[in-house]
Amino acid sequence: MKSIRPIVILSIMLLFMNLSVSEAQTTANISYTVSFPEAQAHYADIEMHISGLKQNVLDLKMPVWTPGSYLVREYAKNIESFSAEAGGKPVAAPKINKNTWRIAVKGKTAVTVKYRVYANEISVRTSYIDASHGFLSSSGIFIYPANMLHQPSTIHIKPYQNWAKVSTSLEMVNGDPFTLRAPNYDILFDSPIEVGNQDVFGFDASGVKYEICMYGGGNYDKERLKKDVHKIVEQEAAIYGENPNKHYVFIVHNHLRGGGGLEHLSSTVLGASRDAYGTDKGYQSFLGLVAHEHFHLWNVKRLRPIVLGPFDYDNENYTTNLWIAEGFTEYYQEIIVRRTNLYSPENYLDQLAGEFNILENLPGKNVQTVAESSFDAWIKAYRPNENSNNTTISYYNKGAIIGMMLDLEIINDSKGLHSLDDVMKYMYTEYYKTKKRGYTDAEFKQGFEKFAGKKLDDFYKNYINGLTPVDYNKYLGYAGYKITDELADNNDPALGLTTVTTANKKVIVTSVSRGTSAYIDGINVNDELAAIDDNLITDASSMLNGKKTGDKINVGIIRDGLPLTLPVTLLKSTRVKYKIEPVDNATPQQLLVRKKWLSL
Ligand SMILES: [Zn+2]
Repeated sequence: MKSIRPIVILSIMLLFMNLSVSEAQTTANISYTVSFPEAQAHYADIEMHISGLKQNVLDLKMPVWTPGSYLVREYAKNIESFSAEAGGKPVAAPKINKNTWRIAVKGKTAVTVKYRVYANEISVRTSYIDASHGFLSSSGIFIYPANMLHQPSTIHIKPYQNWAKVSTSLEMVNGDPFTLRAPNYDILFDSPIEVGNQDVFGFDASGVKYEICMYGGGNYDKERLKKDVHKIVEQEAAIYGENPNKHYVFIVHNHLRGGGGLEHLSSTVLGASRDAYGTDKGYQSFLGLVAHEHFHLWNVKRLRPIVLGPFDYDNENYTTNLWIAEGFTEYYQEIIVRRTNLYSPENYLDQLAGEFNILENLPGKNVQTVAESSFDAWIKAYRPNENSNNTTISYYNKGAIIGMMLDLEIINDSKGLHSLDDVMKYMYTEYYKTKKRGYTDAEFKQGFEKFAGKKLDDFYKNYINGLTPVDYNKYLGYAGYKITDELADNNDPALGLTTVTTANKKVIVTSVSRGTSAYIDGINVNDELAAIDDNLITDASSMLNGKKTGDKINVGIIRDGLPLTLPVTLLKSTRVKYKIEPVDNATPQQLLVRKKWLSL
């Protein structure tokens, strides 16, 4: 049974009543032709043809967001020159709201619509077109007929100049790479399309055809990449017991400085730096990104919170569970790379300690729970401001730490018999495969409890819906590890702010941490730090040289063009820098948990 929220059902019913949409609509035939006559100026020209219409009114809409990236991006802002015709004659197509065009089609069975999309934003979730290639992020390219998300469509690609290849997980029609078929709009919007002369290579893994499509060049070693990505793919499929795709595409955009990734059902888009493949750090970080986005093909694309599909493309889709959808994916990306032996155990533990340090150095850890962080992704995580560190945490970061806590708890309680893997596989089988729907908060909690062998009410109260500090040594202790703070003996003072130095050597405050000297004594973001006592500030990193915790100093600032002197009492830096180390004399149980956890 597919679960659709009551409000969606209601709005669909209203649409049916208002627009007299008939059942015959299911026979509508929809095709798009995408051409690039002005690729050099970042344009795609779209021609959409719909036939088999039997209604009086046709509303055409553009999604306001891309699933996986939780921000309303208003893709309709990039559309221009929208026109429609029927029977060879122009018909009116007025906009009725920010992302909907309405066409009166009474007595007409077919309509052709033309529009242009300006695509000049380089990111994994926005389209980008220039003379060298076209990257189509489908939810920002294709308008869809309201109430026809279930409809299939055909996409014809007319490449620009010498572009010779199309890379996408959409199926080709009759073996023609420039003619594609989408079985419905959820699949179309979940299938980015790369057109150009990308470097394509691949491998087969457990019966699935994998393609890696590299745009932009880079110092990657194809054979090494194929081998290592293959290992990651196999490790991840082993967790869930199956690889549900037939064909999977990695679209990789290499830039001078690139990063980020966006997951899709049968593909992913990754950003990378061209020279990243040449260093251990850069290469490991790329493999971590591969492991992350590929893991999503199960976690969030199939095993998903109940509101994340079927999607509402007009509005925010709220969930308190991004700490599982994203946080656990963050946890697994590193542990999977560890399992392939591409990370040593020490590499892995250093990376994990880095996650602890991010959370523990954020004042927002005392303000926002991980469930709240998930829910407010739309207005907070994706719209940070200068005060975000004081008020928010990342559901990626704390979610990864919670993944570690639950993994270790389950391994310890089951004496190495079970792990978080079993929860993921059980939830995937139970909800995606058997019940064919998303999960609720309570259902995932029951999944944890099934393998933890106990109720997790207190765990949820403390860590998911509460602000209880994480007891790292309790969880790491299960595996015979502990944290030590390398800065524990540090008594140096700190102002508790970050700065940027401008081209003309002005030191400007960019953030102020709650509870620090700067926060308490009133230094603000955008203040120019001009002097401390009688010494002019030329370098932020040395401005406290010679000062001690407890010193009272005068900070000369320029605020809104006016000079001001603020008396400041220097407090001790509160920063921590954890390192994970083995305990002395680990017990057999601790060694057993360690072995299972780190795949030793
Ligand atoms: Zn992710």
